[in-house]
Amino acid sequence: MTPVATQGGLGVWASHAAQSRGRRRPEPRAPNRDDFQRDRDRIVHSTAFRRLVYKTQVFLNHEGDLFRTRMTHSIEVAQLARSVARALRLNEDLCEAIALAHDLGHTPFGHAGQDALDACLRAAQPDGGGFEHNFQSLRVVDELEERYPDFDGLNLTFEAREGILKHCSPRHASALEAREPGGVGRRFLDHTQPSLEAQVCNLADEIAYNTHDIDDGVRSGLLAYEQLLALPAFAQFHREALGAFPGLGGRRLLFEVLRRTLSAQVHDLIGCSTARIQECAPADADEARRSGPLVLCSAEGAESARAVKAFLRSGLYRHPRVVQTTEAARAVVRDLFGAYTGDPSTLPAPHATRRPIHRAVADYIAGMTDRFALREHVRLFGAGRSGLAHEL
Ligand code: MG
Repeated sequence: MTPVATQGGLGVWASHAAQSRGRRRPEPRAPNRDDFQRDRDRIVHSTAFRRLVYKTQVFLNHEGDLFRTRMTHSIEVAQLARSVARALRLNEDLCEAIALAHDLGHTPFGHAGQDALDACLRAAQPDGGGFEHNFQSLRVVDELEERYPDFDGLNLTFEAREGILKHCSPRHASALEAREPGGVGRRFLDHTQPSLEAQVCNLADEIAYNTHDIDDGVRSGLLAYEQLLALPAFAQFHREALGAFPGLGGRRLLFEVLRRTLSAQVHDLIGCSTARIQECAPADADEARRSGPLVLCSAEGAESARAVKAFLRSGLYRHPRVVQTTEAARAVVRDLFGAYTGDPSTLPAPHATRRPIHRAVADYIAGMTDRFALREHVRLFGAGRSGLAHEL
């Protein structure tokens, strides 16, 4: 990396806590932590973070104790993001904060839950923009957490909020811009990049789920190890692993191949991003935002990631057994949304009086863990209707 360094070994292109754009509501600095460490700590102590333990990543939470949940996924993303951040001389604490918070807005039951809630919201309010989990993650840290005596949400820094809002529709971006001019919605209207730390977290997220979903897919029995050999990168690491450890088999062979796959992606990302940052030589974090994507992998790396995604889509995410449970999960979310909006008195007190009711209900459902949603479904509709509740 270039010799230009600043305090703490961070590059000039990094986000520096001392130069943060600050919090929406100004607060005095903490004595022993900088603002990004403090953001990370607030996230770890939040209620929404603890709920991630019982939220589905791909497999429903009750399908097995060893599958990834949103919590373990978020921790893996944080680990990868910190490693990459250190190599690129970026701010590790900010990366950790973004990574741990990036999925706080996820509904129960993974993408099936999100799709169902999106459809419900769009039907209730056709021009409201529906449900987006990234936007919901921002709502959680800006408004929905209730921990502080004098403000809603966690009052995080601009940089953490910017990273959490990974995607945003133009409608939601315009709404954010109206409330907070020049704030976190702005880049989706200007088509600029977020901080390099946020860019790292986006790619760390993708590397994490592409790798751990293969592991979970094989663990579940829905993917066979032999199927993975259709992926060129996987086949190559399979040969290398057996070359280094002849006779290796079973789960240790899978882990060794996945470990090599993961390392190759991280090294590729660090190598390409280092070269790109050197080439552009942004003078500070804002110039880095205006320089197009600077954190990126090679063309071969991108192709290999596309192949893994396509493989997981057809082999795992659309596997009949996964589809069957996700269909049932979708119905649970639809039923709950209908019941609560039809009779708000079925909601707990603080939610029952919030308006508009469809937004209050969406926030309430989005915050649920898988098992809480199933319990609510049994309470309102009786046991047996979902086909999932017997798993509790
Ligand atoms: Mg994620």
